[in-house]
Amino acid sequence: MALIEINDVTFTYPQSSVPALEQLSLRVEKGQFVVLFGPSGCGKSTLLRILKNEISPHGQLSGEVLFNGRSAGAATDFSREIGFVFQDPENQVVADEVLHELVFGLENIGLSTNDMRNRVAEIVDFMGAEPLLHRKTHDLSGGQKQQLNLASVLLMQPGVLLLDEPTAQLDPVSAREFLDMLVRLNEEFGMTIIMAEHRLDEVMAVADRVVMMGNGRVLLEGAPSNVIRQM
Ligand code: ADP
Ligand code: ADP
Repeated sequence: MALIEINDVTFTYPQSSVPALEQLSLRVEKGQFVVLFGPSGCGKSTLLRILKNEISPHGQLSGEVLFNGRSAGAATDFSREIGFVFQDPENQVVADEVLHELVFGLENIGLSTNDMRNRVAEIVDFMGAEPLLHRKTHDLSGGQKQQLNLASVLLMQPGVLLLDEPTAQLDPVSAREFLDMLVRLNEEFGMTIIMAEHRLDEVMAVADRVVMMGNGRVLLEGAPSNVIRQM
């Protein structure tokens, strides 16, 4: 069974006459690193929002979205199982100190202090973030903030990680570091990742599967080298 199955989804925003997604179908297996690739406006963000179950009540949605075989909808909340990293590194940081930021989300889900410590230690170790723990969040670079956002999301132990052009606002070195971390997350921990990206070189660096979109549809999909050959 696929982790995520999207069947024939058409979605139109309110007050819009053109569908942002049109009869789109996609299966994502557990452990895949999928990049949604295509020009601005092709529907990448909309698709991620639908996976987050974020916009279905507001626009016109037809088709089916299944997560672990279960249908997404008002009765089923997958938000705990889905981690999301936005484009803007500033967007998600709320606390003044790195350690507080990491603990912030965990405090709301009722973990024991010991479980919190273990989870934080594991992520900090994975990221090599020990030296940053007591820094002020507003002193961090954009790349460090984005890594902190990623860490906060991972601490919630999501079943799938969604990212919307997470490196668009980072300098090239920070962007590469961030992407390398995603690759390690996928390869070492089997994390399922779906990332929207419009720059081809970023796609090539990470994807094991590219889904090329245009006008709300899937145009091509497959291994990066195959997709590029057919472009
Ligand atoms: P991408 O992420 O690939 O840039 P989007 O999913 O943001 O594409 O946009 C797909 C289409 O939906 C575009 O035509 C865009 O203008 C439109 N769109 C996106 N968000 C909204 C919205 N909130 N209301 C109306 N139209 C929207
Ligand atoms: P992205 O390319 O990452 O989707 P955009 O710059 O297209 O980002 O969109 C930024 C915001 O503007 C989003 O919240 C999106 O929903 C909204 N938006 C995009 N296109 C439209 C549109 N045609 N009408 C209304 N809102 C839109």
